[in-house]
Amino acid sequence: MKDVFPIGEVNPYSKYFIGTTYLHMLSNDMVVIGNVTFAAGARNNWHIHNAQSGGGQILLVTSGAGWYQEWGKTPQSLKPGDVVHICPGVKHWHGAKKDSEFTHLAIEVPGENVSTSWLEPVLDDFYNTLTD
Ligand code: MN
Repeated sequence: MKDVFPIGEVNPYSKYFIGTTYLHMLSNDMVVIGNVTFAAGARNNWHIHNAQSGGGQILLVTSGAGWYQEWGKTPQSLKPGDVVHICPGVKHWHGAKKDSEFTHLAIEVPGENVSTSWLEPVLDDFYNTLTD
C-alpha cells in the first residue's frame, strides 16, 4: 500500500469496521481530515454523521477501488479522483471493493454538535454480491 499521505496506525475505530483499516489524521485543527486506508474487502458499518447545523463528510478518493452507498440507494463505484459529499443525517457506508485496497481522505465538515452514530455492519451476504 503506497500513498502520498502516511497510512498511519490500525484504525482506532476498527470495532465499527469489517476487515483491516488504517487511520492517519492529517489535520485536527480548523477542519478535521483523516487518511483512511482499507484492505481489500474492508468497509465501515452503516453510520450517520450528525450535526445540529453544518456538518457532514466529504470523501476524496486517492487510490484503489471502493464503494459508497446511501440507505435505499444503489451502491456507487469509486475510483481515484472521485469526490463524495455526504449530507448530515444520511445513513451510509463506504469501503473497499472485495478485490482491491482503497484509500480516501475523510473531511469532517465543521458544524454544531457533530457526532457519528455507528449502526449495523454491511454483511458479507450483501457485500459479496456487489459488482461493477
Ligand atoms: Mn461516513
